[in-house]
Amino acid sequence: MQEDLTGWVLVLHGGAKSIDPMKEAANRAGCLDALAAGAAMLRAGASALDAVEAAIRVLEDDPTFNAGRGSVRNSDGEVEMDAALMDGATLDLGGVAAIRAVRHPVSIARLMLRETPTLLVAEGARSFAAARGAELCQPAELLVPETEPAHDTVGCIALDSRGHLAAGTSTGGLEGCHPGRVGDSPLPGCGLYADDAAGATVFSGDGESISRSLLAARVVQGMETGGPQASMEAAIARLSRTGGEAGGIALDRMGRIGWAHNSQHFAVGIAREGGELRAFLHRDEDARHG
Ligand code: ASP
Repeated sequence: MQEDLTGWVLVLHGGAKSIDPMKEAANRAGCLDALAAGAAMLRAGASALDAVEAAIRVLEDDPTFNAGRGSVRNSDGEVEMDAALMDGATLDLGGVAAIRAVRHPVSIARLMLRETPTLLVAEGARSFAAARGAELCQPAELLVPETEPAHDTVGCIALDSRGHLAAGTSTGGLEGCHPGRVGDSPLPGCGLYADDAAGATVFSGDGESISRSLLAARVVQGMETGGPQASMEAAIARLSRTGGEAGGIALDRMGRIGWAHNSQHFAVGIAREGGELRAFLHRDEDARHG
């Protein structure tokens, strides 16, 4: 079936992981809610950056996902989060890592976007958030009793009606990880990248493997000459060098979509101008490749 590739596009994910059958409905519903928030913004003419931030904020509020509320704990039992946002038009990037007790890490990454340091960590990130009036919270507000040790970082990429791309990530990291550990999610070329000249991509999964394999850089470079699906499949295949599970979504400047994973499941939502909102838990559910 031929897809209409004109207009805005928004693609998001709720993590590369194994999804318990009892949690399938919550994963689909969470993706659809976030899609609805992002799509509403793009429909109203908002930028890809605004839509990505809005969609991720919904996922951060949903305890189904390991981002914001529902984040997993490190080996000290604390929640430390990483998030980033990248503007494909300017290549501006804002990121925070190992940040504690803030409600929406992606919105702090947004505040960082036009700042000179691209990445602030730990207390430095939180004091920046406090100085800029971002929403702080108590550490306990982020904890959800039944949080499971699974990969379920969230991410979103979008193309707006002016042809600009954006990418964003947000995560509680890996369950039981070393305090201060930073994964792939806030690192450009690793967990995310966006460039209007090529495309946008974000990843979820084993951060150390994703970072060492430079997966986001590979996908965006692949999209300079090839399609997003082939570029994404080639990136996931690189994990044979390092081991590890991951999933990624990609979008090129023409609005073509690619996604792949070597994890058992990957919760993905897709919205396109003039189309319906769709959520999937495995690549095989999406018959319309590319
Ligand atoms: N990639 C994230 C990290 O390593 C974890 C995840 O995707 O669940 O921090």
